[in-house]
Amino acid sequence: MTAKSETVDLSQLDAALESAHLPALCAAMVHLTGDKAWLRPEWAPAYDPLDRNQIGVSAEEQARLRAAAKAAIIAYLTGQAPMGPAPSPATIERMISFVAGAEIPEGYGEFLADELAIAGTSSKDPQWEAPIRQAAGQKLRVLVVGAGMSGLLAGIRLSQAGVPFQIVEKNADVGGTWLENTYPGCRVDSSNHMYSYSFEPNHFWPQHFSTQPVLLDYFRGVADRYGLKKRIRFQTSVEEMVWDQARSVWKVTLNTPIGPETTEATAVITAVGQLNRPRFPDIKGRDSFKGEAFHSAQWRHDVDLAGKRVAVIGTGASAFQFVPEIADKVASVTVFQRTPPWSLPAEHYHHDVPAGMNWLLEHLPNYDKWYRFFLFWMATDGFLAGVRADPSWNGPPDTVGPDNAMFKEMLAMAIRAQVEDRPDLAEKVIPKYPFGGKRALLDNGVWLAALKRPNAQLIDTAITEITPTGIVTSDGQAHEFDVIIYGTGFHASKFLWPMKIKGRGGADLHETWAGDPKAYLGMTTPGFPNLFMIYGPNTNIVVNGSIVFFSECSVRYIVGCLRLMAERGIAALEVKREVTEAFNARIDAGNALMAWGSPNVSSWYKTENGRVSQNWPFALVDYWRATLAPDPKDFALKWAAEPVV
Ligand code: NAP
Repeated sequence: MTAKSETVDLSQLDAALESAHLPALCAAMVHLTGDKAWLRPEWAPAYDPLDRNQIGVSAEEQARLRAAAKAAIIAYLTGQAPMGPAPSPATIERMISFVAGAEIPEGYGEFLADELAIAGTSSKDPQWEAPIRQAAGQKLRVLVVGAGMSGLLAGIRLSQAGVPFQIVEKNADVGGTWLENTYPGCRVDSSNHMYSYSFEPNHFWPQHFSTQPVLLDYFRGVADRYGLKKRIRFQTSVEEMVWDQARSVWKVTLNTPIGPETTEATAVITAVGQLNRPRFPDIKGRDSFKGEAFHSAQWRHDVDLAGKRVAVIGTGASAFQFVPEIADKVASVTVFQRTPPWSLPAEHYHHDVPAGMNWLLEHLPNYDKWYRFFLFWMATDGFLAGVRADPSWNGPPDTVGPDNAMFKEMLAMAIRAQVEDRPDLAEKVIPKYPFGGKRALLDNGVWLAALKRPNAQLIDTAITEITPTGIVTSDGQAHEFDVIIYGTGFHASKFLWPMKIKGRGGADLHETWAGDPKAYLGMTTPGFPNLFMIYGPNTNIVVNGSIVFFSECSVRYIVGCLRLMAERGIAALEVKREVTEAFNARIDAGNALMAWGSPNVSSWYKTENGRVSQNWPFALVDYWRATLAPDPKDFALKWAAEPVV
């Protein structure tokens, strides 16, 4: 236990303690001092479900806690007191429950300690011994498709494992969704201190939910730090992949800036996102419109909206962000709504992270981990109960269970409070389907404030036609516009589209799926050996957590599969059909018990036959556990001529 030796500017300490998340501070103080007394009942949080910053600790106790923490932090940072001994696993479990403000269910401690990398390492770090690295280097050539959040992550882990790889990226830069979506107001809607790689914390996020350019900078910075850019071929996309059964390789046709090219890979990892290919609605006359028209994910910054009559189709996550940004710049904005979104009050949605908090994240050891844990926990199973269906529930059809009904009441009240002066709007914007049926959006009031502007209108009558001059609704009304913006989402169910993928025996992946994509653990599917998907079928989350977590778990599993191949001299790894079917039966049963599986909800989470192909219905810990390492029994294995190690 060494004392801190370098000099730290303490002038921000008071401000830091003022903005500290106090339960996370208590946990960090246990590390700092080795004293469990920081977990005393008077300082234990009792969170308000709609305002997690209300911790239910009296002002006097908060002051006592801050004063005690100040003295201990100064002693440590000035070198007078060494860091305490590492807390025992039992103490860590107590700290976890303390910060969560609830008894953590059995089995969670291990998962959360791993997610926090409390011991300094995580199960997600590939700790491959030299012979395995060497074997992998000799036998494996991996192609990663995409250099967004998941593709970069795959690149980092493959580099750490010593596996040769190349990344192809259709764009001219890294960042994926954070490169492409440049619409006004685009920002992350999961807390940034959680929406970041667990091993690459950023102590200087400018906002709790930072804007797109900040996210893009983060991913560019990571790509630079891990030397990934030299491994990426930009402006290069996969046209087709064909499995060569005899040689156990994928033959890949690439579209490059200088024309088509072929390459080979022993394994392919797709990291192309679920929300990547913009979807325009199938509305009669759509192409006849004579004004400017574009999709939110292909924002036309060259189109000056000032003084224009603008139509927006869609009220999903993207429109919810860009409508408030453009409403005061246009002559008029008319929003066409098919289904109103549920929203969650989040007053701090656009707030800066206080400078003091950044100081604490940077200088108080372990505070960053515990603050991340607080965000992580609050966004996980705390919410899951509220969107779980109770099969015996006899309540109103727009609810799926008692907790869900309670949430619905609270959230409807929060929306109603914003439109008390506009009963016409209130009637339209309070959803009539269960909370959790679709993704709930963070709401700091700007959406409804924009819709209440004199130059704004919300139309919830169905669109029947688009004409050269505007939009016609089912009541026969013709609305004239200069610009139409489509906030109509993505081809989410068309996983891996438009790549052509032909697996064993020439089977086409899209024909095999027939519009109903299924995979084992979202990553691998029968008939397509050595093909691994990140953010594949049934790995999306509606209310719990951040997709970065899912990608990290998936990459750990995929790297585990590659390890298995290198270690045992396996040429081809193909998941068994019965394993995949049993897994999907569990997934379907799980989704049937969630709000988004309710027959009263239609959304992009469902395929045309009504199956939820997007979402993970269980707790995060379940995905974490299922993806710890591949079980060789789940796969049909084709052995290479000679084992490698
Ligand atoms: P979306 O959530 O799929 O929303 C599409 C909207 O368009 C919905 O309101 C939909 O109505 C409407 N729509 C589709 N076809 C229509 C038609 N023919 N007529 C009228 N309305 C139509 O798409 P998105 O807003 O781009 O968001 C997609 C996902 O991207 C989000 O769920 C989220 O996961 C992610 N996202 C995240 C962020 C963030 O983190 N900051 C921001 C943006 C997006 P229905 O609801 O009736 O289908």
